[in-house]
Amino acid sequence: MVRVLVVEDSGPTRHLLSRSLADADMTVATAARFATGLRQASTGEFDVIVLDLGLPDGDGLELCRELRATGIQTPILCLTARAKVEERVRGLEAGADDYLRKPFALAELRARLRALARRGGPTPPRRIEAGSLAIDFGGRHLLQSGGEVPLTAREWAVLEFLAARQGRLVTRDELLEAAWHEISDAASESLDVILSRLRRKLGGPGGACEIRTVRGEGFVLEIRP
Ligand code: CA
Repeated sequence: MVRVLVVEDSGPTRHLLSRSLADADMTVATAARFATGLRQASTGEFDVIVLDLGLPDGDGLELCRELRATGIQTPILCLTARAKVEERVRGLEAGADDYLRKPFALAELRARLRALARRGGPTPPRRIEAGSLAIDFGGRHLLQSGGEVPLTAREWAVLEFLAARQGRLVTRDELLEAAWHEISDAASESLDVILSRLRRKLGGPGGACEIRTVRGEGFVLEIRP
């Protein structure tokens, strides 16, 4: 389920977008002002952000810049009545990922949001420290009590996907899409092997960093510092 944050001061447009995106099976949160939009976007809980550039209490491009400056990489689609080339360039420089000129077709907006959500998605933290475990995602090191534990590329892919969504349920299909780019029985069996190896390398059940199975639903990475 794609989680969208809509930052738009116009009430009618906001409601229209909420309804239309919810109909397309997206979860929608809204903000009407710069300040609330920035606060909600800063949680990093969204897969994609729809941002109206003309907000009453601030410029949408400034919101983009502030988010990027704090390391939030959630893809942003800007809505704007301004459509000059210079405006587009300014938007991209501010860290926006896509642009849609008002008025726009809802079908096009939905398609672009899906594409952005697939491309972006949350990124794992730079580093996780929990108990005797230290995981450095930037340099791809996993240390258990100071000793390096090697992980394969596929194990990193699975761990990164889970870590980017720590504490949240991730379905089997989402993991397969992310790390195998296919949903098949072979990939699914391979995932089980990877999960069991990863669990051992993370310190086993009851450890500070645990991949918990939610029966019939998926997996949750839990970290107890
Ligand atoms: Ca506006």
